[in-house]
Amino acid sequence: MNFKDKVVLVTGSSRGIGRSIAVKFAKEGASVIINYRSNESEAKAITEIISSYSGNCMCIQADVSKERDVKMMIDTIIEKYGHIDILVNNAGIAIDNDFQNRHVKDWQETLNTNLIGVFLTSKYAGKHMLERQYGKIINISSTNGIDTIYPYSIDYDASKAGLINMTKNLAIEFAPFINVNAVAPGWVDTGMNDDLSKSYLKSEMEKTLLKRFAEPEEIANVVLFLASDMARYIDGETIRVDGGLKMG
Ligand code: NAD
Repeated sequence: MNFKDKVVLVTGSSRGIGRSIAVKFAKEGASVIINYRSNESEAKAITEIISSYSGNCMCIQADVSKERDVKMMIDTIIEKYGHIDILVNNAGIAIDNDFQNRHVKDWQETLNTNLIGVFLTSKYAGKHMLERQYGKIINISSTNGIDTIYPYSIDYDASKAGLINMTKNLAIEFAPFINVNAVAPGWVDTGMNDDLSKSYLKSEMEKTLLKRFAEPEEIANVVLFLASDMARYIDGETIRVDGGLKMG
């Protein structure tokens, strides 16, 4: 896959799946924008590594749930590169807690990042993509938004289900110029799951046919496929990447 001359924004890309997606795009020649919310040192470190691959990388601090931040981020990208070709909506949070200890502010925080953040980046980046009549948007949902649901993350699961729905609506809104698709990973080995107990994670691993969690790179592979010309006839779709995770 060759992404030379493509400008790619990956939200929440200082670590985890986003970082892996950013590295892969850079290795394929793209200009990559690292977005981070708070961890400046991690973001700068990955920006330096990526610069050694594609030579064209920048990092921007922006909270995707804040409209002002998103407008500033997209304006900065347009000012520097003149266009934006690929948007990967990867930034996401999960606040695990039992139902009675879950509060409205947990819901708001989760929905603000996982749904409203995607709305904002898609709105402001989509405008520029439409002007050039070219663009790819890939949203990182989750199998939690389909059938492997957990009351401990009730708001996260609802947000990821909402994101699958938003993917279809955005595909309609931006047709026929921008392909909008989603990837729904099962368990992925990242810092997002650090707070979960080892015994719980082991029982979840047992539910996957491949008996292991995904490496972030295995999610990135599918994101790059969806952003490539090979996937040009796929639109409004969600692809599961879950190692054969069985519902439970
Ligand atoms: P992670 O916690 O390692 O990375 C998430 C990144 O998003 C972090 O860098 C974080 O700072 C950033 N972020 C969070 N809120 C933000 C905001 N408001 N603005 C900008 N950046 C923000 O987690 P990950 O596992 O790499 O998750 C990446 C995506 O994959 C998320 O959308 C997550 O829901 C999804 N996902 C993860 C798993 C898994 O098992 N790890 C499974 C399915 C889906």
